[in-house]
Amino acid sequence: MTIWNLGSINADVVYSVPHIPAPGETLASTARQSFLGGKGANMSVAAARAAAQVRHIGAVGSDGRELVQRLLEYGVDTRNIAEIDTESAQAIILVDTHGENAIVLHPGANHEIPQAVLQSALAEAETGDWLVMQNETNLQRTAAEMGRKMGLKVAYAAAPFSVNRVEAVLGYLDFLILNAVEAEQLQTATGKTPAELPVTDVIVTLGSEGADWYGPNGKLHFDAIKVDPVDTTGAGDTFTGYLLACLDRTQPMAQAIKTATKAAALMVTRHGTADVIPDLLEVQDFRP
Ligand code: ATP
Repeated sequence: MTIWNLGSINADVVYSVPHIPAPGETLASTARQSFLGGKGANMSVAAARAAAQVRHIGAVGSDGRELVQRLLEYGVDTRNIAEIDTESAQAIILVDTHGENAIVLHPGANHEIPQAVLQSALAEAETGDWLVMQNETNLQRTAAEMGRKMGLKVAYAAAPFSVNRVEAVLGYLDFLILNAVEAEQLQTATGKTPAELPVTDVIVTLGSEGADWYGPNGKLHFDAIKVDPVDTTGAGDTFTGYLLACLDRTQPMAQAIKTATKAAALMVTRHGTADVIPDLLEVQDFRP
């Protein structure tokens, strides 16, 4: 089947700086690197690296052609990414010599995905396909409603967290994934534990502690794999992309979580995000 991912596509531009500049200060950077980023793009790449058929639904400006090309090179079908008359999303990331960072995120085209792009993409979707979303684009509620009506399996990664955005889609979801902080924020806002949410499967990821699955058989815990982490950025996106790819291959949830756990553990041993997400063979061969 196909995983349709309504998701963000960012240019992550990382500047190495001696320190994070103070208000009014001008500072020269010592290095500048550009990466493909955004939770949506990361998840699409992860699911594609996990051998799923992934169609990304999104938008970039004319300055985003290289980002789309990168997605394509990683195995993502990009025909439902529109080029629109605005700038692509960009994250300006300053990293100082202690590893401390400061980020300015300009959402640009991620917040202006035309509804027609979503509609023409989903017109090709089939019952049983997955529709995935995160909280870095517009159109989530519309997509969730359409997906549910069409018999797609609707999945939502509630990051970056916004209680209003989660509540807007909650009634349409088959699958919800949150990290520990997001799960706590949702419980504080709604008064509901993950087990009480009206969603068939809820996954709460717990960083180096692993993940909990709240499903038809109650709560099951899965330990993380012990590794020496060098960079945990993108661990969650890799986990989610792998998990959905495995579920799409009709693997049982427990087995899918174990593969996702392995992929995410391997990911945290690497610097970088989309560009270094491991492929299925690397994950299968990974012996921590
Ligand atoms: P991020 O925002 O950094 O992408 P997240 O907060 O969405 O991550 P986490 O709960 O930190 O998600 O991590 C997702 C999964 O990645 C965990 O469930 C675990 O399997 C794996 N993981 C994360 N950190 C580690 C670690 N230090 N060691 C081993 N596995 C890890």
